[in-house]
Amino acid sequence: MDRRLVLIGPPGTGKGTQAQMLSEEWKIPHISTGSLLREAVESGSELGGVVEQYMRSGELVPDNIMLDVVKERLSHNDVSGGFILDGFPRTIEQAEGLDRTGIDIDRVVYIYVDEDEIIRRLLSRYECPKCGYIKGAENNKEDVCPKCGVKLVRRADDDIDIIKKRLKVYREQTEPLLDHYKDRGIVLEVDGNGTVEEVFRRIEKGLIDEDKHQE
Ligand SMILES: [Zn+2]
Repeated sequence: MDRRLVLIGPPGTGKGTQAQMLSEEWKIPHISTGSLLREAVESGSELGGVVEQYMRSGELVPDNIMLDVVKERLSHNDVSGGFILDGFPRTIEQAEGLDRTGIDIDRVVYIYVDEDEIIRRLLSRYECPKCGYIKGAENNKEDVCPKCGVKLVRRADDDIDIIKKRLKVYREQTEPLLDHYKDRGIVLEVDGNGTVEEVFRRIEKGLIDEDKHQE
């Protein structure tokens, strides 16, 4: 069956990692906002040129442009068996825009973690200043980058006040977004506490159980 998924979760839940694992397991593309924008720019298309201007000026890419980029990506052949959207839609406006394109979403996987735990995780995150490698809370023993041997540093945007502000913005945007999809009965809520493998098994089990339910 088709697997047109959207992954939603606050920063620090390991959402990108889960999307990547699902993508490998199910052989469907993982489409993250970051990679979408990068690919659009690299394609050299007219749309890519517009995206590049926004990114250069440090401005957020407006919803209508973002939607065009998503629409273009979802017209490729490799999504015929499904896809995993990660980071889009992020707001109710984007979700409504996506609805208008006629692209149906089968399931929305919402990964939730307590805010105290998110803060704890983000504060224990270190990165390589050279290649951007991120060390999660699970690799506590690492203090140098496994790729370049450079000493890892705390991420500048992982300051406690910035984290709290990000979580507040996230809550304000996500609640209406979740309600939008809950009305359709397609939200799968997954407990994001525990190891990467534990969370992954919960997601898979949840999706498979729901499939059975619908047969
Ligand atoms: Zn590195």
